[in-house]
Amino acid sequence: MLTAGQVLQLIRQGSCRTRKDLIEFTGLSRSTITDRVDRLIEAGYIHESGVGASGGGRPPSVLDVDPGKHLLLVADLGASHARVALTDLAARPLAEEHTEMRIQRGPEPVLTWVRQAFQRLLDESGRDPARVTGIGIDLPGSVDYASGRMIRSFLMPGWDDHPIKDAIRRAFDVPILVDNDAKAMALGEWWSSWRRCPSLLLVKVSTGIGAGIVIDGRIYRGVDEAAGSIGHVRLRETDDRVCTCGSRGCVASLASGHAIARALGQETSRDVVRLVQAGDPSAIALTQEAGRTLGVVLAAAVSLLNPGVVVLAGDMAETREHYLTGIRESLYRRSLPYTTRNLKIVPSALGARAGITGTAIMVMEHVLSPGTVDAALRQ
Ligand SMILES: [Zn+2]
Repeated sequence: MLTAGQVLQLIRQGSCRTRKDLIEFTGLSRSTITDRVDRLIEAGYIHESGVGASGGGRPPSVLDVDPGKHLLLVADLGASHARVALTDLAARPLAEEHTEMRIQRGPEPVLTWVRQAFQRLLDESGRDPARVTGIGIDLPGSVDYASGRMIRSFLMPGWDDHPIKDAIRRAFDVPILVDNDAKAMALGEWWSSWRRCPSLLLVKVSTGIGAGIVIDGRIYRGVDEAAGSIGHVRLRETDDRVCTCGSRGCVASLASGHAIARALGQETSRDVVRLVQAGDPSAIALTQEAGRTLGVVLAAAVSLLNPGVVVLAGDMAETREHYLTGIRESLYRRSLPYTTRNLKIVPSALGARAGITGTAIMVMEHVLSPGTVDAALRQ
């Protein structure tokens, strides 16, 4: 017997658009389908809209996800920025706010800001907090997805094992998801531009380097949530540059925005972007060289995964293709042609909004999943 949550899946997937479709597709009785559909409508998950094709007589109304009744709150936290958004149930932003904030300030002040910013978004848009059905946060570190605690982040001292969900739940008692930023960005890019592509690899290069993998529309996390941790592959073990992780010769210590900034006598990856955009020859040369270095690791990743697209995100995606040029040079040179013949290597289409978009999609998928819907209907 299908649950209401499973009926919602059939509607979302486009398998069934009317009550009649549902009866024919599932073989369930009219009264059972009416019960499931009515409960989904009453709870604000779907509405009846438009008019379907008629075989004579009264045309049936079309069932569709109702984006307007439920709200999502999402936050994208980077090493030096924070962005929050209020979205509808289709993950479309209704209100947004961003600020420069150093995540190194620690979990208490940063998460307090997030809670207050969530409240501001609701107040300023005049929406009822009771309609918030899901919350998501992405961060630049490894996260235990089930518990929502940080596993480790070299950019975020003081956050290890911090109960992030509890800090948010003080204000909002709804399902809360916490994930790594590169994973969220990968889902955001896949959802916005690459939904026909069965395998996408996103590499984020800003202060550090991380990657996210989407296979068949789902984030691939790995056994220890560590899938995509390519920044600390040690390419040159005898290199004298010490990485944030304490080792020598990690690809992050050679090819991250921070590494290029240091070689240029600058502070941050934003300084590198500014110099490259201004046409500074040594910034351009070092950026291309860093791209070639990362391309060595990406050649291995591409040979393993055979993705349809590699997306470059983070600050280095804004270097007028110079970082990408470096990646392309060494990746193609070091890979067998048949692993790359259909490969596209592109900059992020969403730019600074990749993380917040992916986090909203992740929360939307969770809130509309059969298990979550059925649990919410039982309450
Ligand atoms: Zn390292």
